[in-house]
Order: sequence, then structure tokens, then C-alpha cells
Amino acid sequence: MKIEAMSFLAQRDSEVARILHSEAERQANSIDLIASENHIGRAVLEAGASLMTDKYAEGYPGRRYYSGCVNADEIESLAIDRIKRLFRAEHANVQPHSGSQANLAAYLALLEHGDTVMGMSRSHGGHLTHGAEVNFSGKWYKAIGYGVDRETEMLDYDDIERLAAQHRPRLIIAGASSYSRIIDFERFGRIADKVGAMLLVDTAHIAGIIAAGLHPSPVPYAQVVTSSTQKTLRGPRGGFILCREGLAPAIDAAVFPGMQGGPLMHAIAAKAVCFLEAMQPEFVEYQRAVLANARTLASEFQGHGLRVIAGGTDNHLALVDLSPIGLSGRDAERALEAVGIMVNRNSIPFDPRPALTPSGIRVGTPAVTTRGFGTAEMKRVASLIVKMLAHPGDLHVGRQVQMEVKEICHRFPIPGLV
Ligand SMILES: *Cc1c(COP(=O)(O)O)cnc(C)c1O
Repeated sequence: MKIEAMSFLAQRDSEVARILHSEAERQANSIDLIASENHIGRAVLEAGASLMTDKYAEGYPGRRYYSGCVNADEIESLAIDRIKRLFRAEHANVQPHSGSQANLAAYLALLEHGDTVMGMSRSHGGHLTHGAEVNFSGKWYKAIGYGVDRETEMLDYDDIERLAAQHRPRLIIAGASSYSRIIDFERFGRIADKVGAMLLVDTAHIAGIIAAGLHPSPVPYAQVVTSSTQKTLRGPRGGFILCREGLAPAIDAAVFPGMQGGPLMHAIAAKAVCFLEAMQPEFVEYQRAVLANARTLASEFQGHGLRVIAGGTDNHLALVDLSPIGLSGRDAERALEAVGIMVNRNSIPFDPRPALTPSGIRVGTPAVTTRGFGTAEMKRVASLIVKMLAHPGDLHVGRQVQMEVKEICHRFPIPGLV
């Protein structure tokens, strides 16, 4: 696929220009099924590449520590306004540099060091920041992990309630990075109330689906909601926090000066654009297509004898157990990357294999749906994956699959480019 070069950059710094060009070509010529990724549109890209990056704007609109913040105030207020409307939230902070930063700020606002927190175990689909040992959330707090039921592979709310009653956490965290079913935020809210805990819902993966009204919103049930903006929401890399009015001062103080210095104003400009895009009817159609594509992908895999965790998907991703074909997630990831199909290896719940060579792969449809892939393309992609995984070292099959990948990619350009 022909990619327009950034010509000014190419004159000034040919090395960087060459790498950026290669990355654009890599994206254009590969099928991205990494569930946490997406392709941003041109408007978000332009706002994100703006010279808003020059401006120091520590503080908040109308309360800055620097002069010259008139436009920074206006853009941040607009972003706040839009995200509050999108999620019907009382208060929003759009400054966190990422989803993980948003979570760090929420912990800083709500907890003391040493408090007990309860989040979904990483090995069952939770995120690093939900209490993993290697992360601040597991180092500074006493972290209790909950998981899914061994049979259904879905969240077992009775068991979560039992664990919460036993450990009496100060904070319960709901949300996940590789869980394919609806999360019952209302039930989480009741569990938290019952044990006197606060509820933090991390919507990093599903924010776009919630914004489109296709997954229940946590806003009525959680004291704090955090998210990243680059996943299903299809914005720039970044984060935001929603909370009740009463917690606004604590949340804002935790972000700045608690955790960050100057906000990334160019990223906030791009977030504002993303939030406007997420309010459009086309965005709802996009999310419907994301879900339909994920369901198709999951059922095609099942039809080919692979096992889909939790029996299927309600959202944008599916977790696939490859043990029926005797391949590790790592070998599958490598074989697919070699032919231009990007997935990531992933542990499955109660995985008998080690984390580096787990039993599964995670696949997601936000990025390919942005390019315009429909269910017909998903069926074709599923069959290419199955074919490749059946012959992982076969050069002839590899070449064939790679040609087909290129052909599909050619028909569906990525929107951020020409
Ligand atoms: C991706 C993710 C995050 C972190 O987002 P970053 O923007 O990468 O820091 C937080 N929580 C969950 C559940 C995620 O999946």
C-alpha cells in the first residue's frame, strides 16, 4: 500500500521519518486483532499532532500556574464537558496520561498505603494495576484477587461477595483486560455497599462500547470510573477519570499535583475530538459492528474446533484456548505475526502452562472494524488463522496466507493515512 511521506520531517531527519514510514506501512499491511488497539481517525491524529504540546498548563481551567492558558482552558473545559455528557457523569478529569495513571490517581485519592484492595487476578483477565505484585497496586496495598468460575469461566459474583465479606477491602476494582462477557456493575455496587467498600470501575477496554450504550454503564454504581482513551473509544493514547461531585477535589488533587505535572494539552485536544466522535450515531454503528465481528470470529473458531473461553463473547474480544491443537499462545502469536496477523498470547483462566508460553491467544475487533471489515472478512480471517495454526512452520502455507492478508488489507485502508 502506498503511504504518503511526512515530507518536512523527511528533509530534517530521514532516520526518524524512515521508521515512522515503516510503521505506517506495517499497520496498513497487517491485520490488527490486538484487542487493546485501534486505528485513530484523521481528526484525532491532527489534534494530537498540534502545537498544543508546547503549552504548560499545570492546574485546571481557570486555576493555572502559568500565563497564556486561555486556549488550554477552553480545550480542556470542552473535553470535560463532552466526556461528562457522554457518560452522564457528575465530574471528569481528563488529564491522566494513560489508563494506568488514571488508576494510580484513583488509588491516591481513595486509599492509604497498606489498605486492602480487591481486583480481578491478572491470570484470570485483570489488569496489572488491579493488584499485581509487580505493580504499585500490589506493592503499596494489600491486594486480594478474585477470578472466574472454573466451569463457566465467567465472574462468580457469589464468590466475589464471599471474598469481600472475608477480607473487608477498602476498595473493590471491577473491570478487566481479557474478559469477554458483560460485567454486572450493579451487582459489584451491591457487594461493595454490603461490605462497606468503595467501588472503582476500570472501563479501559470497553469504554467505547459503554459510550455507545451497548454495555451497561458503571457510572450509577461506582464512586470512581477510570479509563484509557485509545482502545474501543478510539482516541489518542491517554486516560480519564469520572467521579461523583463529592470526590472531585480528591480526584483532581491526586492527578495534579499528586501524580503528574503539566498535562499533555495536545493529547487533551485529541481526547476532545474523540469524545465528540463517540457521540455520533456512526459511532454506535461502529460499536455494533465491533461486537458482531467479535461474535463471528468467536463462533468461527468454535466451528473449527478451538475452544473459546466462557463459551463466547458479549464484547469486542475473545480468548481462545489453543490446547486442542497442541500449540502454545506464544508459538501461535509468532506464526501469525510472520504472516501479518497481529494477536497477543494470553493466559486462560486456570492455565496449566506458564505465563510466557500460555495456552491462549486474545483476539479483538476494534481495529479491523475501524478499517471496515465486516462479518464476511472476519470469517475469512478466522479461516486464515486456523490454516496458519494448523501448519505453523509451513513456508508454502505461510506465503499463501500472507498474500491473502495483503489483499484484504489493500481493500481496507487505515483511516489515519491518506
Ligand atoms: C489497558 C488497560 C489499562 C491501562 O491503560 P494504559 O493506557 O495502557 O495505561 C488499565 N486497565 C485496564 C483494565 C486495561 O485493560
